[in-house]
Amino acid sequence: MKYCSTRGGVNGVAFKDAVIMGLADDGGLLVPESLPDLSREMPGWRKLGFTDLAKALLPYFADDIPETDLHRLIDQAYATFDIPEVVRIAPAGDLNVLELFHGPTLAFKDVALQLLGQLFDYVLAERGDHLNIIGATSGDTGSAAIAGVRGRDNIDIFILFPNGRVSALQELQMTTVTDENVHCLAVDGSFDDCQNIVKTIFADLEFKHRYNLGAVNSVNWARVLAQIVYYAYASLQFDEPVNFCVPTGNFGNVFAGYLAKQLGFPIGKLVVATNENDILARFFATGEYARGDVRFTHTPAMDIQVASNFERYLYYYFGCDAGRVAAFMEDFRTTGTASLDAPPNDGVIESTAVTNDETASAIGDVYRQSGYVADPHTAVGMAAARRFDHLSPVVCIATAEPAKFPEVVNSAVGEDVAHHPRLDALKGLPSRRDELPADVGAVKAFVQQRVRDE
Ligand SMILES: *Cc1c(COP(=O)(O)O)cnc(C)c1O
Repeated sequence: MKYCSTRGGVNGVAFKDAVIMGLADDGGLLVPESLPDLSREMPGWRKLGFTDLAKALLPYFADDIPETDLHRLIDQAYATFDIPEVVRIAPAGDLNVLELFHGPTLAFKDVALQLLGQLFDYVLAERGDHLNIIGATSGDTGSAAIAGVRGRDNIDIFILFPNGRVSALQELQMTTVTDENVHCLAVDGSFDDCQNIVKTIFADLEFKHRYNLGAVNSVNWARVLAQIVYYAYASLQFDEPVNFCVPTGNFGNVFAGYLAKQLGFPIGKLVVATNENDILARFFATGEYARGDVRFTHTPAMDIQVASNFERYLYYYFGCDAGRVAAFMEDFRTTGTASLDAPPNDGVIESTAVTNDETASAIGDVYRQSGYVADPHTAVGMAAARRFDHLSPVVCIATAEPAKFPEVVNSAVGEDVAHHPRLDALKGLPSRRDELPADVGAVKAFVQQRVRDE
């Protein structure tokens, strides 16, 4: 299997190179050059558990890694989860919930980043390379990325976060990882400052190549690939095609569901549920993709205006016409708006936006009806599911452990229900962080110093 860019400037990329490349060099995103039809495999795959299904599916896409090696990487990635089945479907009243948050940082990003960490390590060891990962986080991604690569000899990770502006719990999830290759940088500035510093550093190509900088953001193809597995797995647990409700920010999670359907898994509709940052809901209603101002909501992991994986969806929507994708994205980049002639009608995606109040109500309603405690992100999907109650069966994707968001959850439920022993224990652990000014030069100097020390 080879990969190409959604913008047409890059072709024939092998899987291992795609893992390291992240963003394609023409600014587009990597996608498979063709999608296999796996429908004939379905009967046999129905009995497989999550990791066995991953072992059956991933070799189609990672054919430059020997199967025994790939199987070992999959086993190692998912051995870190709290439940042996890795993901599970739980009932919540008349809804089904696909819990993806049983990994080390208690959020769905672990499913992809635990595997990505293994893949990075494997490819770098084979090539005798060292990678310096730099990223900015407003909360969840940082800890999941750190958990994916902690303790690895051939990787250092530098995560910038706004000092004093991530929740205490989120900060502890990063700073209590005291492995030598982990560097948590508390920057005196906003999340935007952190992101701009990272972008500026990546734009300095001389620095980027000299220090072998890499990224772990959600555009990495291997993250999408890992996420296809849980849609595939969940769809095979039912006797009829399954509909999914997916709380959405960067479109990475739901895009994996879209691909799972294209591969032949029995999937009906995909409901894209956004919070008040509704660029995607507006797009699916009108065909216009138009940037708005970011609002801060109960679901910070979805406080995103520009959905970085959306371009992959467009590529398939345009029938793999990279020229049309490039033109659409160029319009959007220069004017902040790009449009289709009509609302998209792909027969798969439905979309709706959920307000903060509706999110809190959904947490309370679901709890009173079923005793199930949902995190706010999951609740956005549950509120959306109520609006599409003609779809059956429906599986709501549960993206975080509720104890990661105790204030919102406890107040919505009216009881002190949001606890997790691992989060409670963080408060007593040793932690390490470095404080830096919001200054590109200071961050670069820090990276140089650490790389030299090793
Ligand atoms: C990242 C995240 C999301 C959004 O996922 P996307 O792939 O960006 O759409 C939803 N919920 C939680 C808890 C997350 O961490």
